[in-house]
Amino acid sequence: MSLLAAAAACAVSLGSTLVPPPQDLQPPPPPAPDPAGNDYRHRLQATALGWPRRDHWCVWVEPSTSEGPGARWDQAWLQAVDGALATWGGVLPITRVSNPDQAQVLVFRRRPPLKNGRASHGRAVLELAKVKRASADGSVAQTEQLEPRITVMISPGQRPEAIEATALHELGHAFGLWGHSDNPADAMAAVPGAQPVRQLSPRDRATVLWLQQQPGLR
Ligand SMILES: [Zn+2]
Repeated sequence: MSLLAAAAACAVSLGSTLVPPPQDLQPPPPPAPDPAGNDYRHRLQATALGWPRRDHWCVWVEPSTSEGPGARWDQAWLQAVDGALATWGGVLPITRVSNPDQAQVLVFRRRPPLKNGRASHGRAVLELAKVKRASADGSVAQTEQLEPRITVMISPGQRPEAIEATALHELGHAFGLWGHSDNPADAMAAVPGAQPVRQLSPRDRATVLWLQQQPGLR
C-alpha cells in the first residue's frame, strides 16, 4: 500500500457514534470446521452486524514517557508490543498512527480491571461505531462507516517475553479473532502453555486468512 493510500485508510475521525448491539439481528452462522483441521475458524464469533474484520487496520499505541525512573520499563513494554504488532503485520495490513482519532485499535499500557473477580494481564474490548472520517485531501467526508473499535489493555507488570505473548494474543482478538484455540501452541490458545507464544502458528495464520475472506461489518 502506498503512503498516500495508507494515510487515506487512517484518516482522522470527525465524529463517531457507538452502535449498540442490535437485539433483532442474528450474527452470521458459525462456520463449519475446516475439514482438514488446519485452523480454528469454527471457534470464532461474529457480531450481529457481521465479522469485525477490516482490509486494513490503523493502530495507536500509548506512547512511552521518555524520562524519569519509569522510562526503562515503558520502553520494555513498548518494545514487546512493537514485536507483537510486527508479527501481525506479517499477515495483515497494519498502519501505526500517532493520533488515536485515526485508529480502530487503541493499545494502552494498563493492567485490565478485575473481571468477575479475576485478574488478567491483557484484555481486548470490542465496540462498534459509526465513524465519519476526513477524506484524503482533507475535505470532509460525507459518508459514515461502520467500524470495529477495540480497546486493548496490556499490563506492564510481566517479563518482556510474557508481555509480547499477551500483546500477540490480545491483538489477535482486536484483529477479529474473537474466539480461542484449544491448542496451547497457538497464539490464540484459551489456556496458554508453559512457554509464552510469541509467533503465530500455522493454525493462527490459516484462521486469520480465512477470516479475511469473510464479509466485514455492514
Ligand atoms: Zn483471549
